[in-house]
Order: sequence, then structure tokens, then C-alpha cells
Amino acid sequence: MRPNPPPNYLAGYPAHLVDSVRHAIAQGKLAGALLGKYPQAHDIRTDRALYEYVQDIRNRHLKNTAALSKVAYDSKLQTLQKALGTHTAIGRVQGGRIKAKREIRIAGLFRDMPGDFLRMIVVHELAHLKESEHNKSFYQLCRHMGPDYFQLEFDLRAYLSYLDAGGEALWAISPASGQDGPGNAKGPPEQAALGRCKPLSG
Ligand SMILES: [Zn+2]
Repeated sequence: MRPNPPPNYLAGYPAHLVDSVRHAIAQGKLAGALLGKYPQAHDIRTDRALYEYVQDIRNRHLKNTAALSKVAYDSKLQTLQKALGTHTAIGRVQGGRIKAKREIRIAGLFRDMPGDFLRMIVVHELAHLKESEHNKSFYQLCRHMGPDYFQLEFDLRAYLSYLDAGGEALWAISPASGQDGPGNAKGPPEQAALGRCKPLSG
């Protein structure tokens, strides 16, 4: 999402929202709140399925942008590039003409996430096809594709903060049984732990 994200995933948010997330993590309540709000993991497991998913959103909202040549999950994105998603346009000479090859990569941890979080990062990277900066029109475009964009980004960042603090992944599918992880077996929602978020500016 950002080439060099600060270690604090909630930097830029109002202090009371950051505090409420930190408090929920410390009290062991954030996991329950997130699972209550987002009980299910999505089932877009392969790069092919991800490509079709991204193309579908692009076709609905960004028809005039150049086609994507590649969309993939990348498990090294977070460690090597410190990014949740990347978008690249590589110029390649093809038959005497320069052809831009557009790629979107999504960090591997999004494989085991709720569909809303995947949609948020996809919308973010798709918006970069038109706006390279995180400016006002960029976020307008994000909200056009996903009206709940800001809330999802905040909740995602709360989840990443929780993981950073040593929390267990909430939507991981256990490889042995193929069954869903704890995501579908938790108790009642505790939504109070998540505040409404305000838009990030730029
Ligand atoms: Zn970005």
C-alpha cells in the first residue's frame, strides 16, 4: 500500500481511535470484535481467482484504464518491500512499440482475510492505476469503488496492529484439515472495541 509504511499501522489516525484499538488489543478484545464484524474468510485462494476478482472490479469502475497483465498474491511483499500491495507499470518493447505491462501484487496475508479486507486493498491498488499519489482524488476514487473504504482501511490497520502485537491470525485456514480457522467458531460480536474511523488525509 505504501512503499515504506511506518511501523505504526495506525499513524495518522486521531489519538482517541488509536487508543481504543491499543486498549482493545491489550484487553484481548480486538480479535472478538473483528471476528464479530467479519466472521468469514473469502475463498479467493489462487492467483487466477484473484485476477478474475480484480478484473471484475476494474471492469465495473475503471473501464478506461489499461488492462492488467498480471495479478498475484506475493508472500514476500511484506518482508521485502514492506508493502501490503503494489502496482507497477513496466514499459516493454514489443514489435517496435513500447507496451506498458501493468501488474498488481497483493501481500500473501490477504489470502486469509475477510472478503471486505481483500476488496479494500484491491480497490486501493486499482485506484493507483489512475492516481499514483495518496491525494484527495485518489481517496475519492477509492470511495467511489467502495463507499466503506475508510472504515475497512481502519479495521484492517487495527488487525495488522493486533498481529504486530503478537496476536494469532484470525482467518487462517488450517492446512491439515482444510477446515476454517477460529474465524467461524468464535462467540458474539464485541463491536464496541472498534471506533468509527475518519478518512486518512493523503
Ligand atoms: Zn497506495
